[in-house]
Amino acid sequence: MEYTSFEQMDLSEEVMRALDKMGMKTPTSVQKQAIPLLMDNRCVIAKAPTGTGKTFAFGIPILEYLNMDADFVQALILCPTRELALQICTELRALGAFIKGLKICGIIGGQKMDKQVQMLRKKPQIVVATPGRLLDHVQHRNIDISDIYTLVLDEADKMLDMGFIKDIRKIMKITPQDKQIAMFSATMSREVMNITWEYMDGADEIEVAPKAEDMPKISQYILHLEEREKMDAFGKIMERYNCNRVMAFCNTKTRVRVVTEGIKRLGYKAECLHGDIGQGARNRIMDDFRRGKFDILVATDVAARGIDVSDIDTVFNFEVPNENEYYLHRIGRTGRAGRAGQAFTFVNYSQSLRMDDILHYTKVQTQELDLNGTEEAAEES
Ligand code: ADP
Ligand code: MG
Repeated sequence: MEYTSFEQMDLSEEVMRALDKMGMKTPTSVQKQAIPLLMDNRCVIAKAPTGTGKTFAFGIPILEYLNMDADFVQALILCPTRELALQICTELRALGAFIKGLKICGIIGGQKMDKQVQMLRKKPQIVVATPGRLLDHVQHRNIDISDIYTLVLDEADKMLDMGFIKDIRKIMKITPQDKQIAMFSATMSREVMNITWEYMDGADEIEVAPKAEDMPKISQYILHLEEREKMDAFGKIMERYNCNRVMAFCNTKTRVRVVTEGIKRLGYKAECLHGDIGQGARNRIMDDFRRGKFDILVATDVAARGIDVSDIDTVFNFEVPNENEYYLHRIGRTGRAGRAGQAFTFVNYSQSLRMDDILHYTKVQTQELDLNGTEEAAEES
């Protein structure tokens, strides 16, 4: 049966109170499908794009099934990046705010081991981890994951892209054979399919198609521009389109650096995230961004993966993304939690076929924007 409200799901008073406090009444599509299955102890393979509420799709069933009288790790959530791990911790703590004695521990690389050891000694019921650091702790016997009930692989495609396959195999091996596995992935790559074949025989599959109604309020503009025109166009849009909290995407680290410098020269405060930036700096940059110390974050796709800053109103694509789904990931940074958003994609001559392919594939609605003329009527792609 499909539920239309959280009330119908027979959730605990504690979780209902937290949802109520967060103003969440209606489950998202992936939550409607995944929560009943996971609460029924089924394994689930869920394909769902960014921003569809995956964290609570696995978080709610985990909180409902925790044994608060036991003091071992019962749920392990693996995810690809440190930012994402910290975000999941924050969201789950909010969801579990009324559960007495709940302890959620984040185990991520780039932080001191001994600080994490102290947190692990307090016997968390839930651990959210990046795979490499988790295995470091397993090796040092700082954590025992041999009794977990549930293993979540969040953003599985990204974890596999980042080369975590060996670590995931090890973790599969040292956790109980009969554990519940919930896998969430925006794309079903071959690597993801391999994992499902190997470890998730008989799992239920659910899919939330990346369709327009999941991103209802994002106005998407396409601008045909040459490279040298892009910075000028950026400045004009910033002035005319009420852009306050902005993410800008480029395909490479080099372009990220160049674009960040260009934006700063226009007089805006901007910072960038890419693969060469160390963990300490990344954490500081994300904190500063969330706190509004600067308003424009420039990033590569990989560096931006999983980042959830809820008040981003504008996304710029300085370049057309290399993968069709990246387009959805990028624009999905705005229009979060029901807010309106806008996305501007700069397409140069050599990228126009790439853009056509994206439009064909994603079926999103866009409109062409000419900053020197008037807006053309919305064009369905
Ligand atoms: P995903 O992991 O699919 O990218 P998240 O779980 O991070 O998505 O959720 C995206 C945003 O939507 C978050 O800000 C979250 O708090 C919010 N959200 C999640 N579930 C609901 C809901 N049922 N109603 C309203 N907002 C929700
Ligand atoms: Mg997520």
